[in-house]
Amino acid sequence: MPQKKRDFINLILDIVLVLALIAVVLSVRALVRAKAEERAAKEAAVTAQYSVTEKAAPAKSASPMPDSGDTGEEQSGNYINIVRGEIPEGDGLEVRFLDVGQGDAALIICSGHAALIDGGHTSKSSFMYSYLKKYGIDHLDFVIASHPHVDHVGGLAGALNFAKTDAAYCTVTEYDTKPFKSFVKYLNKQGVILNTLTAGDELTLGEARLEILAPGEDPCLTENTSIVVKIIYGDVSFLFTGDCEELDEKFMIESGCDLKCDVLKVPHHGSAYSTSYHFLYETWPAVAVISAGEDNTYGHPAETVLSRLSGSGAEIYRTDQNGTITMKTDGESLFVKTEK
Ligand SMILES: [Zn+2]
Repeated sequence: MPQKKRDFINLILDIVLVLALIAVVLSVRALVRAKAEERAAKEAAVTAQYSVTEKAAPAKSASPMPDSGDTGEEQSGNYINIVRGEIPEGDGLEVRFLDVGQGDAALIICSGHAALIDGGHTSKSSFMYSYLKKYGIDHLDFVIASHPHVDHVGGLAGALNFAKTDAAYCTVTEYDTKPFKSFVKYLNKQGVILNTLTAGDELTLGEARLEILAPGEDPCLTENTSIVVKIIYGDVSFLFTGDCEELDEKFMIESGCDLKCDVLKVPHHGSAYSTSYHFLYETWPAVAVISAGEDNTYGHPAETVLSRLSGSGAEIYRTDQNGTITMKTDGESLFVKTEK
């Protein structure tokens, strides 16, 4: 073959090789771009599904939240300004989640009025007495026992041994245990008759308004059915859930009540049978408080609940780690101080 012809063939082969390389590079770039667009579309869909706006409750048909961190998105809706480490003087609503070990007890103070929601276990009776005495709280507008279990009513006898109350409420008026009977005995000593509260009832404490969201008319949904109270002061709200469980959470969601709150007292000491995704989605708290005893035998709070809470973006406080947790609001901001 003449030299000229060989050169020509080599030139053609080189051109074909270059064109093939260009084709490969273009294909790879197109593939990479398509993958990036697909990922962006997925992220946009997830954001649209799970983001909510402040004060606009999500649609009732909305899906529950995904598991912790699944979206990788910063959840919106928790917009309250939180100031840590100081409790200002002056007007406002103050809530103290008392460290009563494995149990619940909260002292609520507003405009010179005070009330208790639960009083811890019987073993904390003397603590409750001393605590109220220390802070000179000898009058309560009312006492709410979220339900008759010993870790909620037990210590109320001690509280009532120091402070007089005008009224008292529970899910039931009779319950066959010594701690409950002792609670009723101290009430009767003060001439107070125990009453029930059901969804739709309202109370006031100074400038604060209390809405009762549960139980419904039939309070025997589960053994742990509790009085659920939403306390509202200005734009800030606290939700007290006692030991309510998933059935009660479902009842409240289906009742259509406004569960959105800034501070959630996590149901049932953080039990795995409460704080469902759907309930968390409806309440969407900025702050979650778990009242549980250190190294308690129930395994409270459950890892799954902690995971759900942190996945929702809520700031978590625990009496077993932080001791007594004091919160105060002026109706706009939330001030938080912990004992530990
Ligand atoms: Zn309990």
